[in-house]
Amino acid sequence: MTDTPDVARTPLIDLLGVTKRFGGVTALRDVSMSIYPGEILCLAGENGSGKSTIIKVISGVYRADEGAVLIDGQPVGAYDPVKSTSAGIEVIYQDFALFPTLSVVENLTLNGFLREGRQLIDRQRARALAADVLARLGVSLPLDAAVETLPTSGKQLVAIARAVLANARLIIMDEPTTALTGLEVERLFRIARDLRAHGIAILFVSHKMREMLEISDRLVVFRNGRKVAEGPIADFDEPAITRAMTGQDLDRG
Ligand code: ADP
Ligand code: MG
Repeated sequence: MTDTPDVARTPLIDLLGVTKRFGGVTALRDVSMSIYPGEILCLAGENGSGKSTIIKVISGVYRADEGAVLIDGQPVGAYDPVKSTSAGIEVIYQDFALFPTLSVVENLTLNGFLREGRQLIDRQRARALAADVLARLGVSLPLDAAVETLPTSGKQLVAIARAVLANARLIIMDEPTTALTGLEVERLFRIARDLRAHGIAILFVSHKMREMLEISDRLVVFRNGRKVAEGPIADFDEPAITRAMTGQDLDRG
């Protein structure tokens, strides 16, 4: 099984032998995997298989008990969420972590990047930046609406736009399609492909077979905290993914 379409590229992220324990529970066991610039990598696994834990290791929320995290081939050393953000790693959580009573513009421009150089940007510049990033994503949102008034899909777009404005190099989406309609899923996938075309890596966490097969370039499957399968999406079909996720051989069932 070949590892990646273009092995000449340096991975954006390398995890080497990562183990993470919570008391007596081993959430991740000796996991090694890489994420390359400009790929959509799907992370699949049943509930409790370690998907959210690996996201938190990649984004510096959790420190691995064993193993190493490399960014651009360099060990991260003392790693935390601030370092991960400055390396361009952005996580879109299921609750989006937005400021509900603030407007779309305010949510898009409130973080550290509302400075340009040493200068804080003004309201006019903030609007221009917000409008520009939404146009780049090919979506329109009411710039002055409080984010809490938007539907789930709109909040998700704000979170994605904020990640792009923060110069994301890797956008991690944890079960992003859960609350979306079919059309909204198609729009999300269109945006993911546009981001990929700009060299941004996407880690798409899911347990929905058809979506994985439609959107991913590569697939990694976790079971009980271990990586049990990995390869180009073309190497997989639904039964193969199910077998990897459950450990059961359906053909001989
Ligand atoms: P997934 O996202 O694939 O559903 P998780 O990464 O959330 O899986 O969990 C993997 C395992 O680690 C599960 O057994 C879960 O109960 C355990 N776990 C995750 N986070 C914690 C925590 N903060 N404390 C204790 N156990 C945890
Ligand atoms: Mg999870």
